[in-house]
Amino acid sequence: PERHFAGTPGDAAHHAAGPLDPARIRTRFPPEPNGYLHIGHAKSICLNFGLARDYGGICHLRFDDTNPEKEEQEYVDAIKEMVSWLGWDWNQGGTSHLFFASDYFDFMYRAAETLISAGHAYVDEQTPEQMRAHRGDFTTPGVNSPFRDLGVAHHLQRFREMRDGKHADGAMVLRAKIDMASPNINLRDPALYRIRRATHHNTGDQWCIYPMYTFAHPIEDALERISHSICTLEFEDQRPFYDWLLEHLAEGGLLAKPLPRQYEFGRLNLSYVVTSKRKLRQLVDEGHVDGWDDPRMPTLVGMRRRGYTPESIRTMVEGTGVTKQNAWLDYGVLDGCLRADLEGKAARAMAVLDPVKLKLSNYAEIFGSLEHREPSGAPAHPHLPELGQRQFSLGPELWIEREDFMEQPAKGYHRLYPGNKARLKAGYVVECTGCEKDAEGQITAVLAAIVPDTKSGTPGADAIKVKGVITWVGVHEGVAAEVRLYDRLFTEAQPDAGGRDFLEVLNPASLKVVTAYLEPSMAAVSADTKVQFERHGYFVADRVDHRAERPVFNKITGLRDGWGK
Ligand code: ATP
Ligand code: MG
Ligand code: MG
Repeated sequence: PERHFAGTPGDAAHHAAGPLDPARIRTRFPPEPNGYLHIGHAKSICLNFGLARDYGGICHLRFDDTNPEKEEQEYVDAIKEMVSWLGWDWNQGGTSHLFFASDYFDFMYRAAETLISAGHAYVDEQTPEQMRAHRGDFTTPGVNSPFRDLGVAHHLQRFREMRDGKHADGAMVLRAKIDMASPNINLRDPALYRIRRATHHNTGDQWCIYPMYTFAHPIEDALERISHSICTLEFEDQRPFYDWLLEHLAEGGLLAKPLPRQYEFGRLNLSYVVTSKRKLRQLVDEGHVDGWDDPRMPTLVGMRRRGYTPESIRTMVEGTGVTKQNAWLDYGVLDGCLRADLEGKAARAMAVLDPVKLKLSNYAEIFGSLEHREPSGAPAHPHLPELGQRQFSLGPELWIEREDFMEQPAKGYHRLYPGNKARLKAGYVVECTGCEKDAEGQITAVLAAIVPDTKSGTPGADAIKVKGVITWVGVHEGVAAEVRLYDRLFTEAQPDAGGRDFLEVLNPASLKVVTAYLEPSMAAVSADTKVQFERHGYFVADRVDHRAERPVFNKITGLRDGWGK
């Protein structure tokens, strides 16, 4: 079975993970299925699966599904899909290492009773307000609860009543009995179990009490015989409780040694976005973006739709290293990895994103008629002959970029202006003769004449030297496409820094949609195909909206080098 846990509580440790080879590294990626994965999770995935790979160990995919209210099957499925997409496999050595923390609820319950019986846990009936007030703070020690020392039999009975639904949600909690004066506030009798009548996606209505994350997580690690429990820095203060709990459960005979050890590393953040599931959900729910997979989102589904490849994400994440510092990374680094990945793979094509017509005034003279189509072409990739040849053709009217004409040329401008010559890429040299304008003075067409005998690739084509090269698409064959141009989602590098309301710094211009003309080879590409539009950058056929009869492309990122003047 794909789901790998059939443990009866007593031998759960063995059933959960199979016989343990103590020389082996065993890690886990433990997402809570309460949202979609983001770029920060990619860091954790690559770190945990990468360590297992590098040291001949095993990495588990474990759903940390102990909190019934926010967890859903939809997220479980999406998370599995993204871990696979990144290139990792929880099936290792012919065995599935897919786990659900909720499969351990029976064991966790027994663990709680074991702690109570040994005098290490008690049911506290203080109100949440009293508990908060009695916890103290960094300068003040906490105060013991009046319920703390009522005796093992009493607490065991109360805890069973909690389980049996005898008490209302929030009426009482099970707490560890450690030290209300500890300088580490996490050791001031942390909560272990709470009453919550909520239907769980896996266990349904079987339970009305649920374990707290801090109690559940170490147990999950121990049952699966994890050697290295790797988490982010903010859990550093939890490590003493992690060890306290596992030691006491081992003493109680519930867990076998060696026990897992927790290690912390810095979070990965991407600048100009937020990476907290709660905030990402807010962006989706309030309609600031078009869903979890909006190409501006730092979710993995969003980044995939934007066109980032798994290779580029892995390269970026691995390049950040593992440190004890939270890291802020710029999209520029990711874009560099994307270019490095696609440069040697993606087919080239010409696309005109801001089109204006170029009319070739002497076309009929040169080619005999306006109906003539002068064939042209170029390799799909400059270094990959196996990708073949692109075919396109010249006609009397072409689409060119509006910025490729200036009536009054700026200094150093080498493209079209009256009297200047430039080359149509894989075509002819043309000489600009002027332009047409509408009543408002807007340029509606650029005029030029073909310079005879200058066709690219023919002898003597280079006799006339020009400095400007222009991309173009024939009006007769250009494929109209919706092209989505993305900018950063926020105007500030750290949108939620200093407690700022991140919605205040949303970039109102993060998406611009244009109608572009693409060369004919682009009509047939399938969704998710990545291409380089020459001089513009890397684009992807949108995996959701792209159709042969209605192409839609997303801009992934520009080219490293700007287009020459
Ligand atoms: P968020 O705060 O975005 O909701 P989370 O930590 O609550 O994230 P989990 O589903 O619990 O989300 O995360 C699974 C794993 O991914 C955890 O081990 C967590 O430490 C790790 N992780 C989450 N965010 C980051 C990040 N920004 N950088 C590195 N690791 C992360
Ligand atoms: Mg979490
Ligand atoms: Mg969180």
